[in-house]
Amino acid sequence: MKSIKHLYVHIPFCRRKCPYCDFYSEITKNVDEENYLQLLLQEIKIRNIPIEPETVYFGGGTPSLLSPAFFEKFITQFKSNLKEITVEINPETASKEYLSQLKSAGITRVSLGIQTFNNRLLNFIGRNHTEKEAINSLENALSIFNNVSADLMFALPNQTEKSLLNDLEILTSFKELKHISIYGFTLYENTPIYKRKESLNIPDENRFSKFYKLIVKFLKEKKFLHYEISNFSKQNYECKHNLSYWFLKKYIGVGPSAASFIDGVYYKNVENLTVYSEKIKNCNLPCEITPFSFNELLEIKLGMGLRTIYGVRLNYQELEIVEKAIMKSEILQTFLKEEIITFEKNVLRLNPEYFHIFNFIVGKIASEIWNV
Ligand code: SF4
Repeated sequence: MKSIKHLYVHIPFCRRKCPYCDFYSEITKNVDEENYLQLLLQEIKIRNIPIEPETVYFGGGTPSLLSPAFFEKFITQFKSNLKEITVEINPETASKEYLSQLKSAGITRVSLGIQTFNNRLLNFIGRNHTEKEAINSLENALSIFNNVSADLMFALPNQTEKSLLNDLEILTSFKELKHISIYGFTLYENTPIYKRKESLNIPDENRFSKFYKLIVKFLKEKKFLHYEISNFSKQNYECKHNLSYWFLKKYIGVGPSAASFIDGVYYKNVENLTVYSEKIKNCNLPCEITPFSFNELLEIKLGMGLRTIYGVRLNYQELEIVEKAIMKSEILQTFLKEEIITFEKNVLRLNPEYFHIFNFIVGKIASEIWNV
């Protein structure tokens, strides 16, 4: 088997739980880093797959609760051609000292969870940092790293357009910022904030779409490339690791709740640190395994690739199916005529002007492919 080039590491620890968050994490004051490091390395051993990562992404949870030594010990296990090593950072943990130690440990990219600069909204969604800390974290990160990304949330409860524009103005005033990811606020049933949903003034679909378009227009004017539905970058600063997901390359994820995709099979690790630890200690794989059929894989490939401006490169067999569908489907022909999608050689692309109705378009493409 060819070696795997993309490695995700889940760090499932947080100081406290944000009320809207449905990511898997455990609340903890002190992390036993050595124990967790050994579990991760043992998981890699149990999987027994050649891994020579070009990209490593430490996500969470709150990876920046861990010491720089943890990251250094982990990445020195891999002698390969590492091109991009990202750590997600919470602004309240982003001191200059910590960030420069991360850089010395070999980290090449940091992603700051800014979310918003508005103190009232930060407080409302239960984030631990303030506007001042968010600004300081950006200043600190940009003084140390060349490749810095920031996450921004939009369509927050009670958020106004003015407040969103203010967030964008502040964020883009940092001229050296290379990458921005945007996330629409989503209510998940299993979260504490869900119980208060009646009293939350959450923007409806129209406002959500208006906010999204406003962000796209604003960031385009600031010369950011809108390369994926939720991601913007300066030229050549796309997130290489995340591109591997959208291009459906092989990747492996380690740690509780992490996912892997290898040769058409999806692996999902258990979302429980205790169960995960027991399985690893007993040399068992800590995951559920879902193999996909050819049809399912094609649908996943379309659903991932069309999220990007690079589109989906179809192989011979897929090309035959899509071409046949286009010949028979009036809907697909209309999509092509109106340049909602383009199809050149073997690459199918969605026009970014229609990213805001991505689900609708991709749903239609998939149903036409199987139904004509
Ligand atoms: S949003 Fe981030 S910091 Fe907050 S609980 Fe979720 S993973 Fe932890």
